Amino acid sequence: RTVYVNGDYLPEDQAKVSVFDRGFLFADAVYEVTSVLDGKIIAFDGHVERLARSLAELGMDMPMSPEALLDIHRELVARNAIDEGLIYLQVSRGAADRDFAYPAADTPQTVVLFTQAKAGLADAPMAKTGMKVISIPDRRWGRRDIKTVQLLYPSMGKMLAKDAGVHDAWMVEDGAVTEGTSNNAYIVKDGTIITRHLGEEILHGITRKAVLAYAAEAQMKVEERAFTLAEAQAADEAFITSASTFVMPVVEIDGVPVGSGEPGPVAARLREIYLDESRKAAV
Ligand code: PMP
Repeated sequence: RTVYVNGDYLPEDQAKVSVFDRGFLFADAVYEVTSVLDGKIIAFDGHVERLARSLAELGMDMPMSPEALLDIHRELVARNAIDEGLIYLQVSRGAADRDFAYPAADTPQTVVLFTQAKAGLADAPMAKTGMKVISIPDRRWGRRDIKTVQLLYPSMGKMLAKDAGVHDAWMVEDGAVTEGTSNNAYIVKDGTIITRHLGEEILHGITRKAVLAYAAEAQMKVEERAFTLAEAQAADEAFITSASTFVMPVVEIDGVPVGSGEPGPVAARLREIYLDESRKAAV
């Protein structure tokens, strides 16, 4: 696999970052994940906008223009012959002698991009069977709207899910569901799509934004508000969205079947619309 590191395209075993990189020492870094379908990049503008916002919230600059970032994405797709897959973009505050305080503003950032080929992203079998989740307390930091590389708690959540024989965990805070370990969470009740409102408690999903816009265009009712686990278990449907899963039905929460216990029509329809529309808009 060819990866991008600070201006160079290198075989992955030759790509290196410093042991003093602040991403490694302090999780002082942000990232983005963008999907590729038919060799084209999905929702690129949204991901770059969120990258700029994450960086700005942490007092970091954009490493380069959106156009230059798109060129790197495309180059990696071509060099790695990615038809379906994901592109990861990581930006850290760079390498500096270990100190909590940020280094001088002119310290070069570390910019890394790499691909993951994933056949069957669009035709995921799980879209037909649905996924099962457990609930766990949300123990992440308070600025989840910034897409930092602090992914230890979500990793723990995935392991708890794995140990419980399910696919993911929904996190709960003050009695309400925040989101999945790496996705936004939704329920459907009496035809209304309910998903948590934006704030510092959740990541502002790029897929979420697109899906809610398509839902509104299709005259579906949408409520952006917090919901409880009990509400989710009593819902007609549940689903998640993310760049890597698009729209994926959730059929069981803490062992309780949601609705019929089968993937529901709203999630299926939104998945279809999302895939159609984002393929059309892909770059
Ligand atoms: N929430 C969290 C915590 C995530 O890690 C992700 C995936 N990046 C999402 C939501 C979904 O965001 P997006 O649709 O932009 O992939």
